[in-house]
Amino acid sequence: MMAAGMAAQRGLRTILIEKNPVLGRKLLLTGKGRCNLTNYCEVDELIENIPVNGKFLTNAFYKFSSKETISFFNKLGLEIKVERGKRVFPASDKAKDVIEVLIKFVVSNGVNVIHSSALDIMKFGKIFAVKLQNGEVIRGNKLIIATGGKSYPGTGSTGDGYKFARKFGHTIKKYKPSLVPIEAKHEWAPRADELLLKNVAIKILDKNNKVVYKDSGEMFFTKFGVSGPVILSASSHVRNIKNHKLFIDLKPALSEEKLDIRIQRDFNEYSRKQFKAVLKNLLPNKLVPIIIELSKIPARKQVHQITKEERKNLVFLLKNLSLKLDKFRSIKEAIVTSGGVDVKEIAPKTMESKLVPGLYFAGEVIDVDGHTGGFNLQIAWSAGFVAGSSV
Ligand SMILES: Cc1cc2nc3c(=O)[nH]c(=O)nc-3n(C[C@H](O)[C@H](O)[C@H](O)COP(=O)(O)OP(=O)(O)OC[C@H]3O[C@@H](n4cnc5c(N)ncnc54)[C@H](O)[C@@H]3O)c2cc1C
Repeated sequence: MMAAGMAAQRGLRTILIEKNPVLGRKLLLTGKGRCNLTNYCEVDELIENIPVNGKFLTNAFYKFSSKETISFFNKLGLEIKVERGKRVFPASDKAKDVIEVLIKFVVSNGVNVIHSSALDIMKFGKIFAVKLQNGEVIRGNKLIIATGGKSYPGTGSTGDGYKFARKFGHTIKKYKPSLVPIEAKHEWAPRADELLLKNVAIKILDKNNKVVYKDSGEMFFTKFGVSGPVILSASSHVRNIKNHKLFIDLKPALSEEKLDIRIQRDFNEYSRKQFKAVLKNLLPNKLVPIIIELSKIPARKQVHQITKEERKNLVFLLKNLSLKLDKFRSIKEAIVTSGGVDVKEIAPKTMESKLVPGLYFAGEVIDVDGHTGGFNLQIAWSAGFVAGSSV
């Protein structure tokens, strides 16, 4: 949409081909329906947050930075707000408002939108021909492939762009899921399904017990393991998760000593109460039976009978709840696809193919992927802007 709107704004006759009956279906899911449309930071920080080929985007980010994204949307009438971690959202908290103004941008610039799937792309001399599912063949002297990655295929991104690019001789870097939930092996994990932990610190240790990732924030349990912002971020940093261990600090604001003092205070105050009742003051309900089981302290034991050793073990457990990690969920559940069209074969100043004159790429189809926080959409805006301004 960005690329098509920019091209049309320059007076070029532009056709946008979209296989879905609506535009921007994936956007509707972004930021849990709120669309974290960019990150309010400088270009250097944008690049730092694109672990795969961030430098390739330097030029595109200077041409269209997150500040330009914000003013672009403001000009279209979208009010925005900046939240924790410099994450930018529409003030309305509604992703559909982002889609609405983008459609306005596309339509008001005179883009002709055709809702049909592109099945094949050919080039005859200098002319591209796109064969559509509805039987039409669209011809043009420039072509931008912005078909997204392979994740959340229900939104339309089924990896078709890789097939088209490969046909034109482009190298496709092996794609894999990034920003994806992680499966855990522990038998108790499914019992915590849907449990949200709003403020925890996590660390991930490899098989040699070396800390390979640390973060703090929000996570949740699923039937198969763990997900949520800190877990998704971890998945883009730790590329192979097999035989790694996740440690969750359930009380990151308190040191072990302070937590011990807090628990002693509770135990003194409610000395005749049962362990399970007192734990409810400390933990979300769903976690109580799990912690009881792992602590090996009987649920009905009155807290004044709990030994010092048992209490110390409990403190350790609350600071180090551990889970064996197994594997990433499939690409279908990944927020982004890592891998794609090799950046070495694309000119960073224009997004034009170095192999096929007149062919351009934009967005997630390229071998670039970022952390959570609005960076992936910024890639799409910046690359789309550059491609649409260069065709
Ligand atoms: C659940 C979820 C939440 C996310 N949240 C955020 C967030 O808050 N912030 C953020 O920065 N990023 C987020 N992302 C990532 C972000 O949405 C993507 O990186 C971004 O949408 C990529 O844009 P794109 O235009 O390259 O591809 P897409 O948005 O995937 O668009 C590609 C379009 O091409 C169409 N298409 C594909 N093949 C064909 C074909 N053969 N013929 C016709 N049309 C075709 C598709 O139907 C689709 O509409 C999220 C992703 C998911 C899945």
